[in-house]
Amino acid sequence: MPRALVVLPLVALAGAGIGLALAGAAWAALASAALVGLLAAVVVPFGGGGLSRRSALRQRVEELAGERARVERLLDDLPLAVVLFTEGGLAYANPAARAIFPAGEPGTAPRDLLGGDGLADAVLEAAETGRTVEVDVTLGARDLRARASQTAAGEVALVVSDLTESRRLDAIRRAFVTNASHELKTPVAGIQALADSLTLAVDRDPERARRMLDRLRTEAVRLAQLVRDLLDLARLEEATAQRARRVDVSDVVRSQVERLGGLVEERDVAVGLDLPEGASVIVVPSDLRLIVGNLLENAVLYNRAGGRVDVSVRRDGGAVTMEVTDTGIGIPAADQDRVFERFYRVDKGRSRAAGGTGLGLSLVRHAAERHGGRVTLRSAAGRGSTFTVVLPVEGSPPDPA
Ligand code: ADP
Repeated sequence: MPRALVVLPLVALAGAGIGLALAGAAWAALASAALVGLLAAVVVPFGGGGLSRRSALRQRVEELAGERARVERLLDDLPLAVVLFTEGGLAYANPAARAIFPAGEPGTAPRDLLGGDGLADAVLEAAETGRTVEVDVTLGARDLRARASQTAAGEVALVVSDLTESRRLDAIRRAFVTNASHELKTPVAGIQALADSLTLAVDRDPERARRMLDRLRTEAVRLAQLVRDLLDLARLEEATAQRARRVDVSDVVRSQVERLGGLVEERDVAVGLDLPEGASVIVVPSDLRLIVGNLLENAVLYNRAGGRVDVSVRRDGGAVTMEVTDTGIGIPAADQDRVFERFYRVDKGRSRAAGGTGLGLSLVRHAAERHGGRVTLRSAAGRGSTFTVVLPVEGSPPDPA
């Protein structure tokens, strides 16, 4: 009896959901492996033939089944949605595809699965013409880019990438550049105007010229602060690892209080410290300086004359907690979440007058979170605020945003 092989057509497999396919040149090798693997599952040796032939075939079938399992695993982990249609409708959808198109029963028609939008049209056009069709569509809240291409007669693979998150990040980046440029424009314009007037005033009105020089200096200081904050932000977002080491939190608080001594005196604020020995964390040292420095500076700047700032540090199990409490103007409940956003200020005028950039608290949160820590706020408008920072003692490696 002649040896025979029965190869079931892919369409017959649609119900079992075994079809596999990929589109795009980069996936060509995978696609062929997938299809070969598919055949392995359905190649059934029939009839006689020598024992060695049969065992060779069995070995080949096992190899191909292994290949198929590998391809299926790859498709399962792929961040792209992959859908395969045959003439009988939906034959396969990987997990990413099932998340976008949950209504997918085997055999579902393209239009029923993908909706009336361009996606189904792309699949039908690829099936009819054999051409690869690319479309961008919006499906609910998602921005999708899809590519439909024929992989065999009557079969179309649809590969979909979800652009929603990258578009959202692009929008955030664009807004950031706009905000940063706007913030830079104000002191730069001030410096230009003052420099022009100064040229005229320097001979005619030396007293006025001196006042202008003071304002010029204030604008230059503001500009320098903004540039420093922007550089801090860039450093916090850097992908390259920065060296974390054990740092004593009480020491950092003491040195930041000293650094801000002039401001504390100028604003007539009393500072109370409750700093234990041996409260240390593993952290990038400049990150901890940034956290402590910004919170302390805000507590002094947004205080009232004769007010207080109290800083306490304590070790709680595997974490160190620092609290900075002030008796200042406080933050209204509606603004309490927003003050951690970049460039957000409750009172723009007061922040600018105080030399603020609106970036300090966003940097603090960023620095704490990248070490596995967190920052919280309790505040009552008109009464004062408490910022609490919790950092794990053992730290966690700085994680670029
Ligand atoms: P800024 O450079 O303006 O101080 P921050 O990001 O440090 O920027 O703070 C954002 C805003 O939160 C400030 O403009 C201010 O309105 C408010 N704020 C921050 N800290 C305090 C505080 N201790 N008391 C009252 N308001 C505060």
